[in-house]
Amino acid sequence: MHFSEVTGQSLAKKGLLNLWHSGKLPHALMITGKEGTGGLPLALALAQYIFCEQKQEHDSCGRCAGCVKVKKLAHPDLHLSFPSIPPKPGTKASSKIYMNEFRDFVRQSPYGSTFDWLQFINAENKQGNITAEECRDIIETLNMTAFEGGYKVQLIWRPEYLGKEGNILLKLIEEPPKQTLILMIAEDTEDVLNTILSRTQQVNLLPLTITEITDALISRNQVEPRRAGQAAQLAEGSYNNALQLLHYTGSDLLLPLREWFNGIFTNNGITLNKWVEDMGKTGREQQKNFLLFTQQLLGHALRMMLIPGYAPPLPEDEAGFAGKLAQRKFAPEVYQKMDTAINQTIHHIERNAHSKTQLLYLSIQMQYLIQGQELKVFV
Ligand SMILES: [Zn+2]
Repeated sequence: MHFSEVTGQSLAKKGLLNLWHSGKLPHALMITGKEGTGGLPLALALAQYIFCEQKQEHDSCGRCAGCVKVKKLAHPDLHLSFPSIPPKPGTKASSKIYMNEFRDFVRQSPYGSTFDWLQFINAENKQGNITAEECRDIIETLNMTAFEGGYKVQLIWRPEYLGKEGNILLKLIEEPPKQTLILMIAEDTEDVLNTILSRTQQVNLLPLTITEITDALISRNQVEPRRAGQAAQLAEGSYNNALQLLHYTGSDLLLPLREWFNGIFTNNGITLNKWVEDMGKTGREQQKNFLLFTQQLLGHALRMMLIPGYAPPLPEDEAGFAGKLAQRKFAPEVYQKMDTAINQTIHHIERNAHSKTQLLYLSIQMQYLIQGQELKVFV
């Protein structure tokens, strides 16, 4: 992985390169960022840079033997530890057993979550773990001479899974052998042992911006720009979320939203019924994503109404749609009540309520709300 293949995170990249160039790369680093922000890809880019035999100032060459071995996750001095499960009852979990699967997983989904990974190895409901035995293995491996005579890099993906066993590593982290980098990638430092946290230097990742995710989806996943923008908008800064959203959301979300609001604003029962039928046939994930998308556009419309000069970070058509809503000048309470009604619908749909009934009820609620009324239901 090149640094240039890691989406966004320019500050973190710059910080890591500065540490390297100034000779101040610590022996224990913790890259911290929420799921889907690129912790693992960034760690692999750093490892590739370290092992590259012809590094340029800002990136590895991608062609030398060192780069090629890191790309395949097969460099003899790059050691990988990650949560795994016992392969059979009565055996112990170990990263070594799953190395081939891990290579496949990272190749397919470098931004994948730990949940995705555990599904990938059919963990089902089993919790992943990095065991005490694996910690002892790490100590032994790093105390050996490097195969290629240079750096040794131990990558630990999700030190949260070390549990108390992580204390076995403390001495190693404090006084590692020369030219050794222990590179951890965490998502939630609250779940990392304090003893480990206090001995590592942290590099924090930011949530990815809508533009960064949109660009990545278009250029890497060949997603059509409109859908890429919509998925990025809902992804909460996570590239992985955006990919999942696209997986579950088969079509453009603005089109059904236009139809729905058209039916609501014109009090057209036939249009609304058709919309309920059509939306009711899609899956629950699509319905949920559609409703989240609607909430976001309503939020932007409200801001456009209240904040002079507010420009929503949305594709042109979505921004135009929000702008038209803003011009209707609904009271902020109306927006608030629409938001609450949509939240309740999502809540029920997630719990397997009958979607068509929920969507019809929501449509009627929305009609009442835009007329400044509330639908009272007596049960
Ligand atoms: Zn290279």
